Amino acid sequence: MQLDGPATFPSASASERDRRFAMDLMQHLVVPTFVLDPAGRVLIWNKACERLTGLSAEAVVGTAEHWRAFYAEPQPTLADLVLESRFSEIHAFYRDFSKFGLNDFGAAVEDWCDLRHAGRRVYLAIDAGPIYDDGGAVIAVVETLRDITAQREAQDALATLAALDGLTGLANRRSFDQALDLESKRCARAGTPLALLMMDIDGFKLFNDSYGHGRGDECLRVVARTVGNAVRRSVDHAARYGGEEFAVILPDTDLAGARAVADRIRLAVEALRIPHRAAPVGTVVTVSIGGVSVPRPDPDGRNLLAAADAALYRAKRDGRNRAVVRPMALAGRLRPPAVPLSDCA
Ligand code: GH3
Ligand code: MG
Ligand code: MG
Repeated sequence: MQLDGPATFPSASASERDRRFAMDLMQHLVVPTFVLDPAGRVLIWNKACERLTGLSAEAVVGTAEHWRAFYAEPQPTLADLVLESRFSEIHAFYRDFSKFGLNDFGAAVEDWCDLRHAGRRVYLAIDAGPIYDDGGAVIAVVETLRDITAQREAQDALATLAALDGLTGLANRRSFDQALDLESKRCARAGTPLALLMMDIDGFKLFNDSYGHGRGDECLRVVARTVGNAVRRSVDHAARYGGEEFAVILPDTDLAGARAVADRIRLAVEALRIPHRAAPVGTVVTVSIGGVSVPRPDPDGRNLLAAADAALYRAKRDGRNRAVVRPMALAGRLRPPAVPLSDCA
């Protein structure tokens, strides 16, 4: 039964009501949504989209100016790219995306976005999908924007936490291994040198025995901070490699550079003057350092690690509280027999 409209055109009136109802639904949807027509003009900019972007529907409906909500310069949104079937270009526009999905229904990305009118930087999950008529022609593209900043920040915080050593706050072994792998490959590609230092506190078992584990932990924290402060370039990676062992990756660093950093670390730890009454050498806490630099590294960082370890073994054997930093080839030839460090006091 028709409630209103001319009795002679019941279907036209019904479809108009349907259209209004659909528009109303879209307007009040809690998910920020906008819709483009086939010419790329905004048909709908719903209330949630106004709230999220700080841009009113009045300012964009009927125009192709919706990019203003997201960018300072004209740039296609995901909906524009889907509308124009420019799927292969999505990568170029969402460089920092962490997720990217493409399917028959459209595209999905995640990215950071500066919502200039709202004065906020948010991490958005963005989906854009085309709507077809019965003949298969695109009549609109719907883009939805979900603010998932909180989840992303929690994820980032977890990832940071997972990469750090709980006791000292330095990078942990896991992130060290990742960084070594990455830098070995990068320096191998770029043809630049790569250096690695491994260091180990001298007589630390005796320190624990003498002062207790709590003081031992405190000593580890102070030494870790000193190692971290001694590497100054942002590309350098300092890590706690294990118990009382630390490691430093020095990208683009030749032998002279690696020796300079090793000496700086060794002297800085000695200068802390942490008393060690049972020290194997002297009366304060010291470190032995083994290092290598290779002009063009093997993309497999494990060789570098073995060579630095061998140099550390030599530093211990030569009397501790010293740095032995060698070119890679020599380090390889002087590989030690497989005996524990503590057996060669
Ligand atoms: P060397 O000069 O040959 O390096 O002798 P060392 O005593 O330092 O070497 P060894 O490997 O025999 O002992 C390492 C000690 O480090 C033993 C272990 O109890 C201690 N250690 C490892 N991790 C921790 C930690 O997290 N806290 C504390 N307090 N001690 C630790
Ligand atoms: Mg050790
Ligand atoms: Mg030790």
